[in-house]
Amino acid sequence: MAPQFDFDAIVVGGGPVGTTTALKLAKGGMRVAIFEKRQAATLEQRASTFHPPTLEMLEPLGLAQPLIDQGIVARSYQFRDAKLGKIVELDYAVLENDTPYPFRVQVEQGNLTRAALAALTSEPLVQLHLGSEVLAVRDIDGGYEVDIAGEGAGTHTARYLIGADGSRSVVRETLGVAFTGRTYPDRYLVITTTLPLHEILDDLSVVNYVADPVDWHVLLRNPSGWRVLFPTSPDTPDETLLDPEEVRSQLRRVVPDFDGYPVAHVTLYEIHRKVAATFRVGSTFLVGDAAHVNNPLGGMGMNSGIHDGLLLADVLLDTAAGRADDTALDTWAEQRRHVALSYVGEETEGNWNALRDRDESRRAMQRDAWRALGEDDAARREFLLTSSMIASVPR
Ligand SMILES: Cc1cc2nc3c(=O)[nH]c(=O)nc-3n(C[C@H](O)[C@H](O)[C@H](O)COP(=O)(O)OP(=O)(O)OC[C@H]3O[C@@H](n4cnc5c(N)ncnc54)[C@H](O)[C@@H]3O)c2cc1C
Repeated sequence: MAPQFDFDAIVVGGGPVGTTTALKLAKGGMRVAIFEKRQAATLEQRASTFHPPTLEMLEPLGLAQPLIDQGIVARSYQFRDAKLGKIVELDYAVLENDTPYPFRVQVEQGNLTRAALAALTSEPLVQLHLGSEVLAVRDIDGGYEVDIAGEGAGTHTARYLIGADGSRSVVRETLGVAFTGRTYPDRYLVITTTLPLHEILDDLSVVNYVADPVDWHVLLRNPSGWRVLFPTSPDTPDETLLDPEEVRSQLRRVVPDFDGYPVAHVTLYEIHRKVAATFRVGSTFLVGDAAHVNNPLGGMGMNSGIHDGLLLADVLLDTAAGRADDTALDTWAEQRRHVALSYVGEETEGNWNALRDRDESRRAMQRDAWRALGEDDAARREFLLTSSMIASVPR
């Protein structure tokens, strides 16, 4: 690798995508610097679902088993109707021959980031900088120059630059790459409660998507408690939605006599579906939320971001070792952009449409389709290959 640069690769952003990408590059022999503007790893809650191909990719980095140990293994998940109860329980056992991990793991994304940061500290080829904000990036001959404020302040150079700096990516903006799409009308209110929903509601699974034209919601069991996701009206102000009495009244939609249980965490999220115009500009690459954001229904954003980064690391290592040429990087960029637009974007929007549909005849057809999956192993396998993201990655 060209010795004139401080590093072979600079990774901007130490979320789940940046940390895992940096770790894979370093384990493959690259000199990597990672700059994260936060002072320390936070136990970020946003994502909590890890799908089978993600666990497969994290396994060689030593990061899959700790997630399984800390998390809750969901060997099935449900589609429910708010009034009729359980419609179908989809068992992952039909994927036994497709993956060593025929399940999804529920655990907050901060657990992965914390473990990956710890692993980075013992990699000799890694410089990890926390409390370091990337202010600007510039093209230089054959590589990049990056201006840092905070810890490690100054200018650093690298052959490759990886923007893993989230949806407001400075790397993407500095390169002038458009990030277009739409913002959903409803924001999501996510409430974590220690209320033992599995003891109160009949026959719940770890993951439950509950359909209703008005009261649709999602119930996820995580190590920190049950997480309930509700859509909210665009007209209701934040202060009202986050008011403790309003939060309790939302929970009463799920458990009518809800009262007095501690609410551990409440957050309101704006939801977007946007994809960058390109994932590659020269030797800069955009991965994770810097490249694409989507509706969280289905739990695909972080998972596909981790796939972006770890598949990119494979291609960069192959290119550096002469096993692949530059066109492999273009192929990576095109394939990952296609997955973001056509697979993740469509799947997650499809989930949104199915859960909230207001047309009763379509809703009845959807219920029949879900029930049919429970009765037909081959159809369920096809469905789960897609919803578990196995079909989105090269096998
Ligand atoms: C309600 C909700 C639920 C979700 N659930 C799921 C789920 O179950 N499964 C799933 O797959 N996805 C889910 N997602 C999406 C998931 O949270 C994101 O896709 C994921 O966090 C993206 O990871 P990332 O590393 O790309 O970006 P981020 O997690 O945003 O990390 C970017 C990092 O870059 C740092 N940074 C930013 N700018 C700079 C700078 N200039 N210099 C240095 N550092 C910088 C930030 O501090 C941050 O640490 C959910 C999202 C929401 C809103």
